[in-house]
Amino acid sequence: MRLVRLIANLGYGNRKDVAWMFREGRITDPDGEVLYADDKVEPAQIRIDGEPLDPPTGLVLMMHKPLGVTCSRKDPGRVVYDLLPPRYRARSPALSTVGRLDRDTSGLLLFTDDGALLHRIISPRAQIAKVYEASLAQDLRGDEQALFASGTLLLESETTPLLPALLEVLGSRQARLHLSEGRYHQARRMFAATGNHVETLHRSAVGGLDLGELAAGAWRALDASDIERIF
Ligand code: URA
Repeated sequence: MRLVRLIANLGYGNRKDVAWMFREGRITDPDGEVLYADDKVEPAQIRIDGEPLDPPTGLVLMMHKPLGVTCSRKDPGRVVYDLLPPRYRARSPALSTVGRLDRDTSGLLLFTDDGALLHRIISPRAQIAKVYEASLAQDLRGDEQALFASGTLLLESETTPLLPALLEVLGSRQARLHLSEGRYHQARRMFAATGNHVETLHRSAVGGLDLGELAAGAWRALDASDIERIF
């Protein structure tokens, strides 16, 4: 694929914009040598304003989703894509969230353009734990760990029981929940099924990957070793 088209597909601008970026000398190799639109170079060798070009496929990002933003693409309010550089909304193949977090849930949210990877992370069969820290309106009853682990809990208006889930009790109103599936409002509905109410919910990890020092609203691209930590 010609470089102008390749770079435009990654959302850096339309073809005319990218042609201008070449003319302005903003597109270089790793040594800062200016590249021309008809050069033959590997995408990994391309720098834009000194920054590596995004990978044409297999892009994976992690965001610390703040409260109050939704995971949809279009919403009258703020959406998670508003927190990313505009090129990530325009790129093809499109970047999607790996599952969703509610507007009122904060924490680790992954994005990728790799459908197979997305499926491997969210598929209940893969047993990748999504770890949630919950604070509750009322004291735990004491039977929640056994109930959630039982594989028999049926949520309201559903016909298939939930898969067994691990609950760590951290305090009388604090708990850490490990889920391997991602049903609609699952954590909140599980506690609601015990007569409780989730006041705050934060996803701290997906598999072995946690947020580290990433501040609320910030994001970063993941490398191969980060991705390995998920599995
Ligand atoms: N469970 C919920 O209830 N909400 C989330 O955002 C994620 C899991």
